[in-house]
Amino acid sequence: MHYIDVIIPIPLQKLFTYSITASEFDFIKPGMRVAVPFGKSKIYTGIVYRVHHDAPTAYEAKEIQQILDETPVVNQKQLKLWDWVSSYYMCTMGDVMRASLPSAFILESETVISKNNKTTIDESTLKDDEFLVYEALHHQSSLKIQDISNILSKKNVLSVIKRLIEKEAISVEEEVYEKYKPKLVRYVKLHTFYSTEKEFHELMNDLSRAPKQRDVVMTLFSISAKTRKPVKVSELSEESGASTSIIKSLIDKSVLEEYFIQTDRVQYSGEENENSKKLNSYQETALSEIKDTFEKHQVTLLHGVTSSGKTEVYVKLIEDILNSGQQVLYLLPEIALTTQLVNRLQNYFGDQVAVFHSKYSSHERVEVWNQVLELSAKAKIVLGARSSIFLPFDNLGLIIVDEEHEQSFKQFDPAPRYHARDTAVVLAHLHKAKVLLGSATPSLESYFNAQQNKYGFVELMHRFNDVLMPEVELVDIKEKQKKKRMKGHFSDRLIAEMTETLAEGHQIILFQNRRGFSPIVECSTCGEAPQCPNCDVSLTYHQYRDQLRCHYCGYVVAMLRKCAACGSPELDNKGFGTEQIEAEVKVLFPEHNVARMDLDTTRGKYGYEKIITALEQQEIDILVGTQMLTKGLDFRNVKLVGIMNADNMLNFPDFRAHERSFQLMLQVSGRAGRTEERGKVLIQTYNPYHNILQQVSTNNYIDMFKEQMNERYNFKYPPIYKQIKITLKHKDYSRVEIAADWYATSLRQVFKEHVLGPEFPPVSRIRNQYHKNILVKIPKEHSLAKTKEAIIKINNSFLNVKDFRSVRVILNVDNY
Ligand code: ADP
Ligand code: ZN
Ligand code: ZN
Repeated sequence: MHYIDVIIPIPLQKLFTYSITASEFDFIKPGMRVAVPFGKSKIYTGIVYRVHHDAPTAYEAKEIQQILDETPVVNQKQLKLWDWVSSYYMCTMGDVMRASLPSAFILESETVISKNNKTTIDESTLKDDEFLVYEALHHQSSLKIQDISNILSKKNVLSVIKRLIEKEAISVEEEVYEKYKPKLVRYVKLHTFYSTEKEFHELMNDLSRAPKQRDVVMTLFSISAKTRKPVKVSELSEESGASTSIIKSLIDKSVLEEYFIQTDRVQYSGEENENSKKLNSYQETALSEIKDTFEKHQVTLLHGVTSSGKTEVYVKLIEDILNSGQQVLYLLPEIALTTQLVNRLQNYFGDQVAVFHSKYSSHERVEVWNQVLELSAKAKIVLGARSSIFLPFDNLGLIIVDEEHEQSFKQFDPAPRYHARDTAVVLAHLHKAKVLLGSATPSLESYFNAQQNKYGFVELMHRFNDVLMPEVELVDIKEKQKKKRMKGHFSDRLIAEMTETLAEGHQIILFQNRRGFSPIVECSTCGEAPQCPNCDVSLTYHQYRDQLRCHYCGYVVAMLRKCAACGSPELDNKGFGTEQIEAEVKVLFPEHNVARMDLDTTRGKYGYEKIITALEQQEIDILVGTQMLTKGLDFRNVKLVGIMNADNMLNFPDFRAHERSFQLMLQVSGRAGRTEERGKVLIQTYNPYHNILQQVSTNNYIDMFKEQMNERYNFKYPPIYKQIKITLKHKDYSRVEIAADWYATSLRQVFKEHVLGPEFPPVSRIRNQYHKNILVKIPKEHSLAKTKEAIIKINNSFLNVKDFRSVRVILNVDNY
């Protein structure tokens, strides 16, 4: 008898065994897709894991429905990686499969199929069965697999669907994201009305009372005369020294006309000798040190200050790998995957660069998948967010993990709850490839590993062109309040620096760690704060729509006119968010363009790109934003960074709060003064003597590292101890309590004092589900594998208790 073990994309503890015929046995290889029946009537796409002769003992093996591929779509190394992810992060292979494959690969009974309206299909190219399905989609906007079975009156329909997808006649349902739009660059010209000398002179006379505007027109005139090329708004602003708002008022008066030119690939606006990739001596040294460490280490940490030119060092390493015919994976946090960097790499490597991230449609993801699988020249370098570690690499030579300290490399929900940086190390091991971790503010984990000589270590401590690190000034706002030197949330120092920066024609970034207008609305009579009905958290006020919103579940309600508890109309704003800062800036600096970058303003299709482009093109003078601002962006003209309030980061209830605050503040600071002129950073705080703030202001990573590591030793936190977080969820409060106590008691019998909790998290009810957490701390000398085995045993007995069956259990390994 012949069998295959199949991974099915649903959370099953074990793989399922199906029987196959002798001829199928000769054909099937691990990594191919097969359509298999499951349960009463469901059909799934599974991945063959193993081909063998061992009949299952617990059940009768069903037959497969059909084979979907001629050759494997998943390779052996990937299957090994899936094995590791599933066992390390305590999830099923089905979970890993679903996270790995583009959804178009996973057809199943629930898949919804619709016509692909982006292409027109020559119907004569369709086979009969294909045509029947295609035709049916003219009458019905979508079909399920079962419907298609009915239409074709046969069971095996996945191959028809697969062919239709390949012909681009249909698509499978998913959120459809659009591609990045080409950038539109804003240009201005003099209105045609003033093209005659006479009109022009009259205009200049008219403008003699508005000398700034007159200057702008003169400058435009002379640039056009000199270059005879279209003039960008940003260029005009720079040359004339006028703010974009002055230019805007000229446009409003129809003196100037604006127009847009589509530039597919906006030139990277770096130095003119951008082509010359010659490294400076510090970079050269770092490069050769990295190569040296790779002799002994598989992983090397590059600690390079912001703007030290790490990217250029990566580029050299990439060139070497490409020359040896291998593939490169360049991992970045999703949000840092900007057109800025894509363009920069494409300038060097042309279309050998493929980009892979969640904003791409399934079609595009399938395209990249296949290019990587086929070792295509078009995907020699994959630039991607965390899920790109699951692409079918065949011959990786190097993985770069840039901004390796970033928290977003860890997937929190759903399973697999993997950390892409750590998984990348395993992936590299499978390929005998090297890993370079890069950061200006390394995670304690990686720096610790480097200190332990587990990783190689290289430093790059000079900014490119010897630009000085920005000067950091701490502003004591308690003091300022006492002396009445605050306007809203702005100290006199911040206002003075902003005024000066704007006068010099430079840009400003203001960092506020919260979005919304003012997080909490409180009744000044009875103290009641409006709460989310689904979660145990106060609602946040959003001025823009005059609404209260829950940041956990998305609940929205119109702003209250009076207190729901006592009826008093006096509702007070406590704390402050980005929206409020933006509103205050607009009052303080009415002449300047202010924009905001946070989850609310970047939700739209190109929200994030649009704001970045506007900042690059200097259409924004002051940008207010949350930590989105910190991600590796390179703006030429930003000279001042203001951190509105350092304390709410530092006081966050998490053992990593101090490490994160340090990283966040240094990263935002790194956005200031990246060219010749030294930048300035102002940090407003109630507690200027806080050690972290002192360490930020002196850019002292080592002190921060030592002090934080001390804390981690004392309180048994990572990286000294490993930890696994177990979260129980249920809509019934007491059931969660009982279940969590049962679970924790069982864990304590095995792990003794290494079990913490159960405890309700700060927000204990989310979407009407109560949460309770248990933490298992694992000392270095304990086996991680044995610990997990014991937890799984306890988990299985837990699930066998009838009362607990409806409680959701989430296991999160390395929950940081
Ligand atoms: P990091 O990644 O360390 O923050 P970047 O690689 O972005 O730094 O470099 C900062 C700036 O310096 C960029 O504008 C980059 O183009 C420039 N730069 C870095 N190295 C070189 C070099 N060797 N030659 C020319 N420009 C460089
Ligand atoms: Zn009240
Ligand atoms: Zn809520």
